Amino acid sequence: MPRRGAYEVKSMIEQKEIEFAGSLFKKYYAGARIDIEKVGEKEFGFGDFNNKISFRHFAFKTNEDFNAYLKQNGPGFVSFSSAFYMHPAARPMPNKIWNGSELIFDLDANDLGLRCVKEHGGSWVCKNCFDSVRRETLRLIEEFLIPDFGFSKNEISINFSGNRGYHVHVDNGDVLGLGSDARKQISGYIKAEGLDLEAFFPSLGQRGQVLHGPAPGDFGYGGKLARFVISMLNREDIGELLAMGIEKQVAKKLLANKTDIIMGITTGNWDKVNLQKKREIWKNLLQKIAIRQSNSIDKNVTNDIHHLIRVPGTLHGDTGLASKTVPLDRLQDFDPMEHAVAFASQETVKIHVGSAPRFSMKGGEFGPFDGQDAELPLHAALYLILKGRARLK
Ligand SMILES: [Zn+2]
Repeated sequence: MPRRGAYEVKSMIEQKEIEFAGSLFKKYYAGARIDIEKVGEKEFGFGDFNNKISFRHFAFKTNEDFNAYLKQNGPGFVSFSSAFYMHPAARPMPNKIWNGSELIFDLDANDLGLRCVKEHGGSWVCKNCFDSVRRETLRLIEEFLIPDFGFSKNEISINFSGNRGYHVHVDNGDVLGLGSDARKQISGYIKAEGLDLEAFFPSLGQRGQVLHGPAPGDFGYGGKLARFVISMLNREDIGELLAMGIEKQVAKKLLANKTDIIMGITTGNWDKVNLQKKREIWKNLLQKIAIRQSNSIDKNVTNDIHHLIRVPGTLHGDTGLASKTVPLDRLQDFDPMEHAVAFASQETVKIHVGSAPRFSMKGGEFGPFDGQDAELPLHAALYLILKGRARLK
């Protein structure tokens, strides 16, 4: 096992590696075609291999112009505005004249509080990171966007970010004109901000009263909580209950009485078994079913109507992976290190690797590395170079 944080070493990408990656990116864009709806109303920003956005306030009249720019420059990062503007290149911002913004959710493995991130650091991403953020994305769509907000499947598109997360775009005429405050309410709802447990359990804290609560068919968070508890008890995995922050004695009691508890909840009776601290238990679980999104303002894509976000189909300058659109019915099986690899090749490249955990990519297994020379397939070498873990030999 590596030292805690031992792999947290991302260094600047040097000129030789920038030229190597830049020429590969140009080649990729020469063979790609990226079409953007209403391209003339979007603001663009571009980054090199050390900065996600080095300059912004760019605009293109047509998709031909946009694609020609990519082919010629091979930028490390390509972002566009979630907003549509009358004059997207104008400065300062008010002169652009805002015409509405897409509703976008940005889910990142680093925001999920995963234990593995503490071990491998935030600049690396492991299989558990990928699996966890994919599950969170599916939950956002299937538990919130479709049932609670009423968006339809064909209004929702999902994009692998190119590194360690997913962007969920909602294309619906009604959300286009929403301002920052309305968007804050939406992201507040999916994060369960200010949620009041008493609203679901009116008799909570009243002595001698049966604890009535939500039933599985209820709308919103109440129904979610009921369904969540039932399915968790049905799985009978005490480790899962402990991971949810439930004390061992309580977890045992819940599982021992699971049939009665489930029967009760099905009819809205949450008092089938006598529990101490029930307020803490159910309140804690209510937080667990919320979606975990970044709280930091500059990362909050949902609230910021002027935010720039990765253009679907472009390359990510920290990985060499493509920011791929993933159909909802394929998300379950989507593996970025398999399906988003842009430079899959038998060709090998000689590199010196500083340090990197073991990883798999396009069916191959690589590493772990700790200060050694290696000859890897192009896609794996490029991944380590752009992650700042390796140099060309
Ligand atoms: Zn991880």
